[in-house]
Amino acid sequence: MTPDTEQERAELPHHYSYSALSQFRSCPKQFYFERILRLPSPGGEAAVLGQFVHKVLELFYHLEPDGRTLDAARSIAGCTWTGFVDTPQFVALDLGPSEQVHFKQRAWTAIAGTLALEPARVRVLSTEERIETRIDGVPFLSIIDRADQTDLGVVITDYKTGNPPSERFRDARLRQLHVYSAVWAAAKAAAPVAVRLLYGSHGIELSEPVSGETVASARSWITKTVETIQRAHASETFAVNPTQLCGYCPFQQRCPVFSTSARPPRRSPSDGLGAAVQQSLLPSVST
Ligand code: SF4
Repeated sequence: MTPDTEQERAELPHHYSYSALSQFRSCPKQFYFERILRLPSPGGEAAVLGQFVHKVLELFYHLEPDGRTLDAARSIAGCTWTGFVDTPQFVALDLGPSEQVHFKQRAWTAIAGTLALEPARVRVLSTEERIETRIDGVPFLSIIDRADQTDLGVVITDYKTGNPPSERFRDARLRQLHVYSAVWAAAKAAAPVAVRLLYGSHGIELSEPVSGETVASARSWITKTVETIQRAHASETFAVNPTQLCGYCPFQQRCPVFSTSARPPRRSPSDGLGAAVQQSLLPSVST
């Protein structure tokens, strides 16, 4: 890519998302490569696994409550798999037969584990709902995995196929959901009553109530982060933040400091080392 081409593309995003802001806070230079220069960023196996699991759960919760059985989930997973193996993102993984079996086993563990965490008769309001709104003037886009109607109000749920955080990083992981609650409140004129993270593969649910304070805190996190991005853009200074996570960065070859970094091997953040690094260095990573 020539400098002129980079200049043509060097505009701020037309809208922001939680993952974009989290990425900027982790490494401004990586944000610059992906969100400003719009360089391709292959997601890796963990991201593709998450896409498959999310699709199956989305279809499962479209079923009427009486039809939400484990057999129904297995049937949906099988039908979804048939088309999924031909998608570009799955083909790009180039998995061999035994690796595909392992992929399916991990996906089913996440799906079945998620279903075991909650009653089948939950009242679903929406799945994978795309919400575009403005948070204090900031154009913001979120895709909400699931919103349920309870007797107390709306509960927002997000599925995770990675590892749950240690207690130390619990709040940081839940920030994503509090950002979603602020988005929901802005778009629907009423805040949810609670947010949940479901780590189906581990049988773990993290949840927290939503309050006026949590919504205000999430809004402040959004606006302060975007103000910092705007200053970085105006001064053309997107700082590097070399950490062990550089080993997973898709922009290593473009990065001015990667050649002087420790260069850990490129591995999926879904593996054991990745989980440890995520917990210790990037609590806000979402998979
Ligand atoms: S290699 Fe590391 S410092 Fe460079 S852009 Fe990627 S994450 Fe940031």
